[in-house]
Amino acid sequence: MTSLAVLNTSQLVTLGGLKRPRVATELSELGIIRDGGMLVCDGKIEKVGPSDEIEKNAGDAEIVDAGGRVVMPGFVDAHTHLVFAGNRLDDFERRARGETYEQIAKAGGGIWSTVEKTRAASEVDLLARAKKYATWFLRCGTTTVEAKSGYGLTLEDELKILRVIRQLKEEVRLEIVPTFLGAHAVPRELSPDEYLDVVVTEMLPRVHAEKLAEFCDVFCERGYFDIDQSRRILSAAKTVGLNLRGHVDQLTNSGGAKVMAEMGATTADHLEQTDEQGIAALKKANVQPVLLPGSVYALGSSHYPRTGEMIEAGLAIVLATDFNPGSSPTPSMPMVLSLACTQMKMSPAEAITASTVNAAYSLNRGDRIGSLEPGKLANFVIFDCQDYRELAYWFGAPQTYSVYVRGECVSRSGGL
Ligand SMILES: [Zn+2]
Repeated sequence: MTSLAVLNTSQLVTLGGLKRPRVATELSELGIIRDGGMLVCDGKIEKVGPSDEIEKNAGDAEIVDAGGRVVMPGFVDAHTHLVFAGNRLDDFERRARGETYEQIAKAGGGIWSTVEKTRAASEVDLLARAKKYATWFLRCGTTTVEAKSGYGLTLEDELKILRVIRQLKEEVRLEIVPTFLGAHAVPRELSPDEYLDVVVTEMLPRVHAEKLAEFCDVFCERGYFDIDQSRRILSAAKTVGLNLRGHVDQLTNSGGAKVMAEMGATTADHLEQTDEQGIAALKKANVQPVLLPGSVYALGSSHYPRTGEMIEAGLAIVLATDFNPGSSPTPSMPMVLSLACTQMKMSPAEAITASTVNAAYSLNRGDRIGSLEPGKLANFVIFDCQDYRELAYWFGAPQTYSVYVRGECVSRSGGL
């Protein structure tokens, strides 16, 4: 048995309490223990409490002196596109010069350029890149990510990406939840309906047979997959036992939120254009909204989702990075916290709940991660600050001091 006693925190931010996602005023209840400590045994949390009490019960546990810093659960990033080849630096520069999405696509940019590079890349190349990004996530204090396929758009290329995700899980300490997003875009060589047939009759059965994903996602948007097509994909996914997520109402309000509610999805993601009917539908069906301010910011938009109304309606908000090479090239949850507070007017406490315990529930892992409570995995981060609000406040300044997954130190500032 290996034991750790984490002592001398300024704030042990437990997020303990309710055994369900948090809503309304619950979003602000962080369960902070001042001068707190924590006992960890064999990768799991055994006890939390005042530091001096934990010290008395420490026995021969290895002491981790937090030195008056903040200790929190590792961030849970519930929306990333972790596996891809190349980058979109040219798009980035064109956008900075003021070119439109259409102009950039015409110049050979956009999602299609990432699809071409990802198709051409070997599993070994994709794995090497993804490992680098996994390290970035850990350094930012994230210990679990959801990872989507979606830059292959052929049977073999989608399976290739999902196999890379599975291999990555074996080789890195970051915990990874796989999602199948074959319906990310329509490939140039097929019509939308032809491609839909491939997704439903060829891809989904293989994803299911090889147990490559827990969730199925779809990009429901004008020019991608409309409401009826999205419904068909999600129904087929449900039939093979996958849980549902969806990119909806990002660029236009197409009624995507309502479809996710109707399909009994776990999450509806983006929602920048969702109106009050969409919000009411999500509430009625208990769908968790996953808000992605990084993509709004990186695209130079100011059209953030109606966060205040969503909180008021009682939705169990989640915040995520949407890490991807085109619209949100950031692995940094602290950056997302900053955007949530400055642009979406969430409080720092609400933002932290949305990026830890609520995110864990949105990945069906609320009973194992997302808070520091006895019985849960010891996935936690020591941040080099004295008050949790500093995480959202000092934007752009790295504050991660050390990161633990299942009780083991996996990243330390300045390397391991
Ligand atoms: Zn996305």
